[in-house]
This record gives sequence, structure tokens and C-alpha cells, in this order.
Amino acid sequence: MKISLRPHHFLCIKGYKGLNYNEVQAANWENVALLLKNNPQTDIFIMNGRDDLCKQCPSEIIKHKAYCKENVVSGLDNQVADFLGILSGKVYKYSEILEKLNKKMTLQKHKEFCSECCWWKKGLCKDSFEK
Ligand code: SF4
Ligand code: SF4
Repeated sequence: MKISLRPHHFLCIKGYKGLNYNEVQAANWENVALLLKNNPQTDIFIMNGRDDLCKQCPSEIIKHKAYCKENVVSGLDNQVADFLGILSGKVYKYSEILEKLNKKMTLQKHKEFCSECCWWKKGLCKDSFEK
């Protein structure tokens, strides 16, 4: 099985705590997060734009701009891809990505990436990369 993900979602998955915009989106994220946790050898296709986690998102379905502005999250995707040294259009094992994340990410860097996100402001992701 192959999953398509945009780069910044690796940060989100790492600290995912089950909260989301609605139940449908929560179930979608729960499925993917659980699959990756139980099967770290899963192939991940790195992509730009709306990915498998965006498909059920109210931001995508009803174009609810309050949740997510594509130009903002695309910028974050580019920053995270550069930081991790991963390329859009390539396939990686999830375990490879996780190894890079655990090796490189710091609390300060995470704050730099995420301080404008609503979930960060709610305090939900601040401990995602505590050692
Ligand atoms: S703060 Fe937002 S963008 Fe950053 S990891 Fe959490 S949910 Fe994802
Ligand atoms: S908020 Fe934006 S980036 Fe996040 S899942 Fe929804 S559409 Fe995708």
C-alpha cells in the first residue's frame, strides 16, 4: 500500500492526538496515523498540494478558508521538505522519514515551522518532538 503525503503532514502525524476539524476528518487521520505506526515500512509518495489526509478535510470539501490557506501550507511543505532533504515526486519508507525527523527536528525548529497554526496556538503540538 502506498500513501501520498505532503511534507508538513509528517510533523502533524508525529504528534497527532486524535483531535480534528470534524469526525470524518478525525477518522481519516486516525486510520493513516495508525497504519503508519503499525507499518513503518509503508511507502510514502511525497507530493505537492492536497494529499490523502486532505481529501476528507472541510477545508478541501467546503473550501473553508479558515482552516487552511493552500499558499501558506504549500510554503510550509517546501520548508519541511528542504529541512528533511526529501523530494516531491519520490517514494520513501515512512521509517526513513521518521528517522530523519527524530534526528533533525528540535522544539525550536518545530516552533519556527508551526507557530502560526491554530493547533499550535491551542498547545496541542508543542510536545511532539520532546526527547
Ligand atoms: S502545529 Fe499545525 S502544522 Fe504544525 S504539526 Fe501541529 S497540526 Fe501540524
Ligand atoms: S487543513 Fe489544509 S493541509 Fe490540513 S488536512 Fe485540511 S486541507 Fe489538508
